[in-house]
Parts: sequence; C-alpha cells; structure tokens
Amino acid sequence: MEYTRENLEGALNHFFGYSQFRMNQLPIIEQVLAGRDVLAIMPTGGGKSICFQLPAMLLPGLTVVISPLIALMKDQVDSLKANGIYAAFLNSTQTPDEQREIIGDIRAGNIKIVYVAPERIPANPQPFIDFLKTLNPSLFAIDEAHCISSWGHDFRPDYLKLAVFKQAFPNIPVLALTASADVTTRNDIVDKLAIRGCQQFISSFNRPNISYFIRPKDNPIFHITNYIIKNRESSGIIYTLSRNSTEEIAGKLLKAGIKAAHYHAGLDPVKRAKVQEAFQKDEVQVIVATIAFGMGIDKSNVRFVIHHDMPKNIEGYYQETGRAGRDGLPSEAILFYSAGDFMKLRNFAQVDGNPEQTSINMSKLKMMQQFCEADTCRRQFLMNYFGEQFPPYCGSCDYCQSELEQTNATIDAQMFLSAVVRTGERYGVGYLIDLLRGSASEKILPEHKQLKTYGVGKHHKKEEWEWIANQLLVHGFIDRTDDKFPQLRLNEKSHAVLRGQTEIMLVKQKPKAPQVTEEMPFDADLLKLLKATRQYYAELEHVPAYNIVSDNTLLEMATYLPSNNSELRMISGFGDYKVEKFGAEFLKDIREHCRRYNLVSKINQKRTKKEVTPSAPKLSDTKTASFKLFKDGYSLAAIAEMRGMSEQTIEGHLTYFITTGEIDIFNLVSLENYEAIKNAVGMLKNPNALKPIKDLVGDNISYSQIKWVLEYLKTER
Ligand code: ADP
Ligand code: ZN
Repeated sequence: MEYTRENLEGALNHFFGYSQFRMNQLPIIEQVLAGRDVLAIMPTGGGKSICFQLPAMLLPGLTVVISPLIALMKDQVDSLKANGIYAAFLNSTQTPDEQREIIGDIRAGNIKIVYVAPERIPANPQPFIDFLKTLNPSLFAIDEAHCISSWGHDFRPDYLKLAVFKQAFPNIPVLALTASADVTTRNDIVDKLAIRGCQQFISSFNRPNISYFIRPKDNPIFHITNYIIKNRESSGIIYTLSRNSTEEIAGKLLKAGIKAAHYHAGLDPVKRAKVQEAFQKDEVQVIVATIAFGMGIDKSNVRFVIHHDMPKNIEGYYQETGRAGRDGLPSEAILFYSAGDFMKLRNFAQVDGNPEQTSINMSKLKMMQQFCEADTCRRQFLMNYFGEQFPPYCGSCDYCQSELEQTNATIDAQMFLSAVVRTGERYGVGYLIDLLRGSASEKILPEHKQLKTYGVGKHHKKEEWEWIANQLLVHGFIDRTDDKFPQLRLNEKSHAVLRGQTEIMLVKQKPKAPQVTEEMPFDADLLKLLKATRQYYAELEHVPAYNIVSDNTLLEMATYLPSNNSELRMISGFGDYKVEKFGAEFLKDIREHCRRYNLVSKINQKRTKKEVTPSAPKLSDTKTASFKLFKDGYSLAAIAEMRGMSEQTIEGHLTYFITTGEIDIFNLVSLENYEAIKNAVGMLKNPNALKPIKDLVGDNISYSQIKWVLEYLKTER
C-alpha cells in the first residue's frame, strides 16, 4: 500500500491527535512501512515512540517492541490505551496465567503492540522464534538500542540475543531507536542487530524548550528554596552527588513547606517505588536524588532540573537535564557551580589500578568544568560537544540572556601570579587566595604572612578570586599539575603578564535570574479546573495524570476555549478516541467557565492544529541574538544561515535596533544609497510604499536598505 504524507498525517492525527510530524518521524515511518530497517537517533523527548506506534497501527500484523525498562512498559501501554490503542506487555512481573491471557489476546488479533523485556528471550531462542512465527509479526522495534553495545553507557548482555530477529525474519523490518549519539555505539548497534544496510536518521540534539543556567554555588539551598516557592505548580528534580545530601536537602525543603522527597539507590525497593509513584502522580513536587533517579522515569511535565553539585561529565549533564520538558513546554536546567566541586570530583575520577579509565574520567570532568566556566553560549557549547554546529547565541541560556561586562583584569592577574612565584609554585588555588586576601588562618605559613602579596587582594571576595584564577587557567595564563593536591605553575604566557607585556581582558556576565514559565495568554483559573478534571479521569483509569492528556494539551484548552467536540479535536493531543472518551468533562468545565466570565471560543485564532510552541525564545531575545551577531560583523545572509531563519526575518530584527538608535543607519546603508533613497522618498506622494521607491532608485539598492532608511527617517521625524 502507498502512503502519502497526507494520509500519514491523517493517521497521526486520528490516533494521537497531533497534526504534524516532528524531526525525522515522517521519513522514519515511511521507511519502516516500506519494509526497510532503520536506525533512528533522536534526543530524549523527541518522539521516538510514535515512530513504531504509528506503523503498528497501519501494518497488518503485530509490532513487537523490545524495551529494557520494565517500569516504563506499563506507562507506555497505559498511554496507548488512553488513545484507544490495544497494547500489552510481557515481563517478569506477570504470573504465567496473566501471560497466557495476553498471548491469547494477541492470537485473537486483539492486540497491535506488545512490549517485551529482553530477558524474556531464552538463551536458546528457537522455541521463542517458533512462537513469534505463530503471532504474525510485522515490525520489530528495539528501544534503547544502545544497550546492545558495550561501548555505550548502559550495556545489557540480554540485548545481544536480539540479532535473532533479522536472522529468523529477514523480510520483517527492524527499527532500532536510541538517544545515544556517538559513532562507535551507532556502528555497534547496526552490527550487532545485523542491520548493516539500514537507513540511519540522526536528529539534532538541541532541546530548544530547555533553558540552561549556570549559577555560582553561593548558598544554593537558599536559592533553590526560593526558586521552588516561586514555581509552586512545577515539578522538578534536584540532583546531588551523595546519598546523604539527598536526605538533608529534602529535609530542608520540607521545612520550607515544599512537598519534597529524597531518592537514591540505597533505599529499599518498596520505598523507591513509592517515591517514584508519588512524583509521577504529582503528589510530591520535588525529588532530591542521586543520578540513580531517572532511568525509570517518564514524567513528561518535569519543569526544572537543578544540579546542586556539578555532574561528572557532559553526557550525564545532558541526560539529566533532558528529563525536563519532554512535553515540549519551556523548562529550565540550573546548575550551581563551584570550583570546589571540581576538586571533589577529581578524587572520584581516580580508578585504582586503571590509569586509562582515570584519564578518560579526568578529561571528561575537565570538559564539564570548561562548560561551566566558558564565556560562550551554553547551548552552543553542548551542541558542539555532541558534534553539531550551532550559532553562538541561543537567546535562552544565562550567557545569552546576560549583559556582558569587559573588565581589565591585568593587575589582579599580576597579583595572583606573583603570589604563585613568591610561594615557590608549590600551592593550589585555595591557599593562594587565602594568602592574597590576608587570611589570619594558621594554615598560612608565617613566612608567607611576611610577603608583600599577603593581603593585597582584599578588594575581591573569595569567589571573585576563584573566578579570576579559573579564567587564568581556562585561558592558559597559568598551568596546573595533575597531582592529588594540584599546584599552580607559571608558563610563558604567565611571564608575559608579569612583565606587563600582555593585557588580560576578562568578560564577565551580569546574570539575570531565571524565570520559569513565559507568559501565555491562557486562563489560569480555567487551567486549574481542567487539571482537576484530568486528575479525576486519572484516578478513574488508574494511570498518571499526564497519560490522560499532557500539560500542553491542558494549556491549549485554557488558551483557545474549545466549545464542542469538533473544536476540541483541533487541540493538540486530542485524537478521535480521546475526544470521545475524555472530552465531555473537559468541555463542561470550559463551557461553565465561559458562561461565568462571558467568554467565547477562540479556536479560530488557532489556524492550524499546531502545537503551541512557546519554546522559541521570546521575540526580544531573538532580536537581540541577531543584533549581537550583526555587531560581531556577520552579514545578513550569514546570520540568517546560522540562525536558520530567512534573511527577511533577520532584516526585521535589525530594523528594530534602527528605531532604538542602537544600530547606526550608515552601518547598513552607504551614504550614497541613503541619499538616493531619501531623494526618492521626497519625490513621492506616498512615501511608505516600497515599490515606487525601488523603481526610482534602481536595482543596486535592495528592498532591505529601503526599509531601513524609511524606518530611520521615521525616527528622525
Ligand atoms: P522519546 O521516547 O523520544 O523520549 P516520546 O516518544 O516519549 O519521546 O515523546 C515525547 C512526547 O512528545 C510525548 O508526550 C509524545 O506524545 C509527544 N509527541 C511525539 N510526537 C509528537 C508530534 N508529532 N506532535 C506532538 N507531540 C508529539
Ligand atoms: Zn545561549
């Protein structure tokens, strides 16, 4: 059967209530339906499930999904059932009777998708294969496919058995899915699954709806508490390094009246399951956890992820922050960074008797530190780390949202370096700072208290000196030994600074406080009613609330106020089945609310059934991003290319800064052209129509230039 984009979109809409495919969903699905093997790499929250769930509904037989996460199977199956799709799972949590019943249902053709845990495949797979043959499979989907690779971070030997699918069913497509990007793992997956000729689809790892913030670790609990209190309605995760601190921090949050719980691998399994469930059901607002928390979590409306301590590497950071915002709504990742954490983690990076592993750990840790200290867009840094190009301004990280301040730090640098020299290049950052600040501590040797540098640095706080020292390290003005107690050493660049031959200019940000949600024109009171109704359905169906409908769907309802079934169908996330099953109560809420406040449906303002994407940076940010690039000397075309926007859009952004006076018109238009345009305007009756001006000035002057001059003339008036 031939599938066109239109009828696939129709099917997506019918079953899942979404009107458009995301990223590579469409080509992946087309390939799978054409019977070809595919490797799909998409970031967490990208929408991998649809890639096999939709084909499952269109193919004649059964779709077998292999997934390692038993805890997630139930959730996935529940969410399919909420869309009226017949699905089931087979794993070790079921009794033989339960399993028999499910198999009966499959044989009867009542089930389209079955989730199977890899350990269900026996070492001698023949009986299992024979059994599968009786079920008429149409597609094998291997979720978390990186588990097959010992190169990946989560190797599971049971996955190696999955090669059997391609061998036993050469004509049935295998779809491997993962969020792990590196090439070695990728090659290993296609190798081990025996799908070497498959098509590979690799999506961008950018998560545009997550904003990244790095803040100095200065009384973090205070800041975290305030942040959570300001964002009462938002779920979040706080990651810390040690088990003890999960309990301690959760305790402090509880005292502040925040519904918090702690989680780590040392808790007994019953307690762990309880905490997870309470979080899934929004009974607990915040989880304070070690990195053990997350693998089994599929909560789509996590609004913030806070790192109380620095993670060990960027992969971990990306994965943990990636648990925020799977529903596509704006979310925040906040990391509290201190150089002290780096020192702590250095010790953990050491693997006794394994220098190779130690050195890998160390270089990953250093990269993480660089990320925290770099004077660049955080998103760009992350994307580059994962091998993707990205423009230098994203508009939604602390760097891009901050005002930058250049300071001449030459004198401070000289002070610091001379402290290094005078103490014989034998000390680390902490000691030198104490010395510079004239600490009375006994740790400072008496002879060092006699030095001229002792106490000359009182004008800076400890944190400021730490920052300066780190900048010197990052920019190579000083070296650090790799010992357990690292010592600072001068290098050639340091000598140049000391001799006054090099100036040191450091860029400092004036960070703005992160704010969780952007303002959307939704009705907050109505949203509360709708949430309660969702909770009602969730309890009725015994599933987590977001399985009924996502937060985004609630927001859309509270924004567009649909008044009947067909309008509800226009809301993203409402497929035919969901409208039928859950529509009535939601509509009742909306109607009553509209009656009380005299409101009417705004559904016609929703031109397409597009997702509300408040995830794009705010207009003012996006304008500023273009402006910054322009100031850096990029051409209009280059900026458009880098930002993935049209030249016209960029031109519009720049126009704004002409009106504010921040861009000088003569940076954009030559004096000669300016005069020509101005003369033409003077000759015309309607001085705002572009075409007549263009006719007068000729081909050498672009429409953009005309527009800019017109704007400029307006501000002159
Ligand atoms: P992944 O498995 O890649 O982490 P999921 O498959 O769980 O991601 O999808 C994340 C969320 O995005 C889910 O809530 C899903 O329903 C939603 N989603 C997937 N595809 C689309 C789409 N085309 N339009 C709107 N929402 C989608
Ligand atoms: Zn940025």
